[in-house]
Amino acid sequence: MNFKELGLEPKIIQAIEELGYEEPTPIQSMAIPPILEGRDLVGSAQTGTGKTAAFALPAIHRLGKHGGCRVLALAPTRELAIQIEENFRIYGKFMDLRMALLYGGVKYGKQLEQLGDEPDVIVATPGRLLDHISQGNLSLKNIEILILDEVDRMLDMGFIEDVTKIIQKTPRSRQTLLFSATIPDSVRRLSAWALNDPAEAKIDIKISAADTVSHALYPVPAIQKFDLLIALLEKIEFENLIIFFQTRRGTDKISQWLVEHGRDVRVLHSDLKQRDRVSALEDFKKGSVKILCATDVASRGLDISNVTHVINYDIPQHSEDYIHRIGRTGRARTEGEAFTLCKPEDLPLVQSIEKLLGNPLERKFVDDFSYRDDPASLTATAPVISKKRNRGFGKQVSFGSRKRR
Ligand code: AMP
Repeated sequence: MNFKELGLEPKIIQAIEELGYEEPTPIQSMAIPPILEGRDLVGSAQTGTGKTAAFALPAIHRLGKHGGCRVLALAPTRELAIQIEENFRIYGKFMDLRMALLYGGVKYGKQLEQLGDEPDVIVATPGRLLDHISQGNLSLKNIEILILDEVDRMLDMGFIEDVTKIIQKTPRSRQTLLFSATIPDSVRRLSAWALNDPAEAKIDIKISAADTVSHALYPVPAIQKFDLLIALLEKIEFENLIIFFQTRRGTDKISQWLVEHGRDVRVLHSDLKQRDRVSALEDFKKGSVKILCATDVASRGLDISNVTHVINYDIPQHSEDYIHRIGRTGRARTEGEAFTLCKPEDLPLVQSIEKLLGNPLERKFVDDFSYRDDPASLTATAPVISKKRNRGFGKQVSFGSRKRR
């Protein structure tokens, strides 16, 4: 099926033809028809599958002519919000769309101007959106299409109460589109509460993890992690590399060490000012710096193409993040390679990743590296742990009309 057969407005087709999209991706073929029919939808697909267009194209089509604040797209991070807004602009370039982009960490001036212009589409992070609402800068009573993107991430980041409040401020008659890379119980509960008989569009996460990325574990004693990183950097021929860390402090510390070792790097994490985050990302995207050191802020949602390599300096604490991180490479059907440093204490986390992938991860050792401990002792298996699904919230969250804290 091509885009014309999907029944999209000719001006939208013109914009996607200019971009050189030849045919819809699988998530687009699955999601666009029910969205055009006006149905709610749960889309389970990760970044890189074309999921932004899967909701943006039919949403723009359904907007028709101008009318204030009728589409709202909520995203967990500013970077993702910026990217969604960019996509709406590009796909809607022949439709004269008015947009507002609302996220925290910056002044209100430009956002107020955009809101004063009766935007057709609002793209926002939850906190800043609620600030604007409480200051009387906008109302959600005209929302016709509500898009919740990267919902698993949004809930992991503790936005459940904000998201619930926002949903409650939109009309019940709205169309709701929920996208999430994974559908844990918390997302399922939110979906059951907020969506009405949704259609489902699912791209199997296992396939995408193995597809074009070769990935392996590099066991190493904790004390030698940095040395192994340096050895890997010397060995691999990367064009653009993202190194992932667990914490902001760790990201700063190791990137400083890398600079001391003569490497030019940029840092991306949520402690940085918004303008520094944007400029780090821009430098990396345009290739003026080859190494980006980041926390999981960069692992989801961001459309960074041509990343050739990913190194997990710290193994991800949540197994889904493994897939998001390695999914930064091998995009658009190019080959990518991912390396995960793993100290013996990380083995329980390795096991939950292997469980999610449905396959054991290959263990590799770097030739000529003098391991302090016997490599065999580094690959010993650990006892199986049970994975707690409702991580991060510390409580069951229920939905409904009851008064919330
Ligand atoms: P996303 O998953 O939305 O982050 O999209 C990943 C990348 O795929 C973006 O760079 C899009 O511009 C691109 N893309 C989306 N849909 C298509 C399509 N049908 N054909 C080719 N590229 C696409």
